Parts: sequence; structure tokens; C-alpha cells
Amino acid sequence: MSDNELLRLKRHYSIIAHSPDDVELRYGTWNATSFMLSDESKAGYLYRLIARLDGSISPAQLAQEERVPREEIEALLDHLISMGVVESNASSALDHYLDTLIPWRASEDARPERPILLLGDAAVGSEIRSHIANSLPDTSTALVEPDDPVWQVASSLDVAWLNDGLSYHQQMLAFEGWRDHLLVFATTLINPIRLRTLNRICLEHRIPWIHAAIDGPFLFIGPIFVPNQSPCYECLETRVMMNLRESGSYQRYKRALVKQRVQQGIPPIEPVLRSMLASHTALEVMNFALTGSSCTVNKLLAIYLPTMEFTYNEVLRAPGCPACSPLPERDDSELYFDSSIFING
Ligand SMILES: [Zn+2]
Repeated sequence: MSDNELLRLKRHYSIIAHSPDDVELRYGTWNATSFMLSDESKAGYLYRLIARLDGSISPAQLAQEERVPREEIEALLDHLISMGVVESNASSALDHYLDTLIPWRASEDARPERPILLLGDAAVGSEIRSHIANSLPDTSTALVEPDDPVWQVASSLDVAWLNDGLSYHQQMLAFEGWRDHLLVFATTLINPIRLRTLNRICLEHRIPWIHAAIDGPFLFIGPIFVPNQSPCYECLETRVMMNLRESGSYQRYKRALVKQRVQQGIPPIEPVLRSMLASHTALEVMNFALTGSSCTVNKLLAIYLPTMEFTYNEVLRAPGCPACSPLPERDDSELYFDSSIFING
């Protein structure tokens, strides 16, 4: 914690004072989660200090104004940080709006740093785009058309180039224009081959991207894949396969995709599901684009439609993932000194 860091209690917490020395922090409507804080020395200032954590005052100022020893303030803040109940910046789009867009605190930076590129199913893509355009009018968004030459390379089912070193690097040059963007891939038909190619492209060019799909009775939103920071698509695939009771059918489905034998019908309810998928995805995209964090970094939001069950599933990196784990020999660094300096010099 730095001396001048302005920390505040996360906005979704309510402060319930049981006494000046016993404070409860609570969030959640139906299934509330709460943390109890007690000052056993009964100094009488715990509630006052917590109530002032609104992000407008530094620890030093707080100590001075409340006449509390500086070490006490720091110990309290360290404890709150370890509980994960304070933050220095907004962690969702809603908080970001409250910080920047309400009239008395209007600022110029209510705009994502990265332009947004929408790939995949055009109908879902254009719905996500219109949600983002309505909420963030200054954001640059573009829908990649199915006949876009770059997308044609990425979506081709002939992926032999991924395993051939020379053509891999040649083909990857085509995607340089996607760098510095945030990619959104939304689909109503999961095609693991296409998703794997996109995964490799995004890892190569370090492009963050989010995956959203309708898969049978499920809507899947996320995870947001942040290269080198979070698991990648192939980690997710490995984790899903580990949880499948019978992974043979998934392999057969992939083989059928290669042979172009998969045909998709349009279920009558699909327009509604598409809108659900688009609105949840747009919210995650805005969270990430505005604040750099979101509920679906490292997590997959699954909505099970028959019972309307919403679950956030943790996705961990798969050890030895062929896409995002370092390769022995290729990515090893030397323990004490780097001889490549002498070679290049
Ligand atoms: Zn991976």
C-alpha cells in the first residue's frame, strides 16, 4: 500500500455499525456475505474510520483528521486489503459510470482505451455492438464481415499452418491489424477448431478477447482471455474435457466439423437467447474495456436455460497447455546470466 493511495470500500458493501468498535460489512441481497470487524482494544474509532473510506482521503490525512496513530490506520487498511473489500479504482462498468459520468464528477476519460472488434455470428455481433454504442457512444467498434480477407484466414478449417513454423509466422502477419483491439467472438454454433485458431492468434499478438456462445441448453459468457495473465481457450477446453463424462462425442463433433458435416437449424427461441447472450456479453466487454477487470476474467458465466441457473465457474490454467505454457528449451531462461546478449552483441 502506498502512502498516498486513495482506497475506498467497494461500493457493493453496506456498513452496519453494531457499536463504535464492532462493524459488519455486508453485501448480497438473498444470499448475503458478511465480514465482522471488531476492535478488541475498544478505542472507539473503528466505525468512524471505516465510514470515511470513500476514496477521497489518504491514510496520512485520515490519521491526522481522526487523531488516530498512523500505524493503526495502516494495520486496518492492510487487513481490509487482505479481505478484498477495498479498491483504488472502479472494478465494474457500473462503478466506472458512477465515478466519471455523473454530472458533478464528469471527466474526459470515460472511454475505453482499446477499440472493439466483433467477430463470429453477425446477428449476435451487431446486437452487442448496438448495446455498446448506446452505452459508450464514443467507443470505436467494428463488426468483421464474413468475407473480410483476414477473417477468412482465421476462420478457415484448414489449420495446417499452425503447426508449420515458417507458414505460421507468415500467416500471423495478416493479423497485425488486430493488435491493440479487444476482440469479441460471439457465436451460436461452437466451432472448437476456429476458436483454437483465434486463441493462437490472440496469444501471438497479445490481444485480449472474450468468448460467448449458445451451446445446447447453455449460454456461455467468457472467460475473458488476457494473454500471459489468464488461462487461454485451450486451457478452458482441457478443463471442460476433464469434466465431461464422455469426451468421445466431443471429439466426434470436432471431426464432423472438419468434414463440414455439421448442420445448424434455427430453433424458434433463438432470437431471445441471442439477445440474452448479447446483453450479458456487452456488459462484460464494457466492464473490461473501461476498467481492465470484469467478472469473467478467469471465470466462465454459464446460464443453464431449463432451470435458469446462473453459475460462475472458475477456469484455471492447465499445466502443460500446448498454447500458453512455456516450452522447455524454447522458452527457458538461463539461471545466472543471459548468453544471448553476447551472441547478439
Ligand atoms: Zn492455455
